[in-house]
Amino acid sequence: MQKITVSTFLEQILQSNISYLSRAITLIESTNNSDQTKALELLQLCLPHANNSLRIGITGVPGVGKSTFIEALGTYLTQQLNKKVAVLAVDPSSSIHKGSILGDKTRMENLSKNKNAFIRPSPAGNSLGGIAKKTKEAIILCEAAGFEIILIETVGVGQSETLVHNMVDFFLLLKIAGTGDALQGIKRGIMEMADAIVINKADGNNIENSNFAKTEFKKSLHLYPAKNNNWIPEVTTCSALNNTGIENTWKIIEAFFMLTKNNGFFEKNRITQNKNWLLQSVNQQLQDHFYNHKKVKIELEKQLKNMEAQQITPFEASKKLIDFYLGL
Ligand code: GDP
Repeated sequence: MQKITVSTFLEQILQSNISYLSRAITLIESTNNSDQTKALELLQLCLPHANNSLRIGITGVPGVGKSTFIEALGTYLTQQLNKKVAVLAVDPSSSIHKGSILGDKTRMENLSKNKNAFIRPSPAGNSLGGIAKKTKEAIILCEAAGFEIILIETVGVGQSETLVHNMVDFFLLLKIAGTGDALQGIKRGIMEMADAIVINKADGNNIENSNFAKTEFKKSLHLYPAKNNNWIPEVTTCSALNNTGIENTWKIIEAFFMLTKNNGFFEKNRITQNKNWLLQSVNQQLQDHFYNHKKVKIELEKQLKNMEAQQITPFEASKKLIDFYLGL
């Protein structure tokens, strides 16, 4: 890894060299200090070539058919529309299961063989914030490599959906028709984030159920406040397995992009997202610097003991700690 210079990385990425793209993502995922310095430089150089893709988040519980759906949609986009598609993932359990999402490429057998597709499993990491940051950086590299559509898969664990929602332009919720109440078990907030709800596995004897679920979801979406981008979330059905409803789903996504690009929301939203990332990154760096400082560690111990001995309130202790830090 050390042998490849930043300029070689850049040159190869801009030529859409997948093997270098893959190695560059490994570089940004590395925790090694010199790799990180190199990664930052590379990202900075890639930035002017980035930002030209459509970023789409796809979420749903395990088993709903995310990888089958991505395989179908990705194949449609690469083969029918001749688009270059990158698939990334944000999976908080990846550090435990070594990349449970997309870890096994055979899940997207056709797409992984397609030269216009690039599939990357979730980065491992201890914190969801860290995993999301690396994915956000991987988006920049993929865009610089000419990928026009970036699909980001996530499972509904912890805050992963919110984090992915904050890094994409369009957020798609995959569901299956429930046994009985289709809306049961849906996490609060997800409905609000969704730009489209796609009911998968609408095949065989499940078609009727799926159509019923579609009506139910449509009704319940009316209960949510209108979005400030003027988009009215859509509900549709598909069978990722049988490849039905995929083209229609894409038409919905296209209509969203048409609307939000025309009314200026697309651009505005990306700027807002970048601002938020900047602020989050500052927060993270401040926290890391504070907690990793040797002298702060000693002072923190001291204040914790004072607090345990009831000599100081937590508020006073925290003020003392910050004053101490600022005086360093
Ligand atoms: P994920 O965990 O959300 O990624 O789900 P998978 O894509 O791995 O799919 C889980 C199971 O559902 C697999 O056995 C798939 O073959 C099946 N499946 C996925 N999509 C469909 C579909 O449209 N119809 C049917 N009948 N089964 C499907």
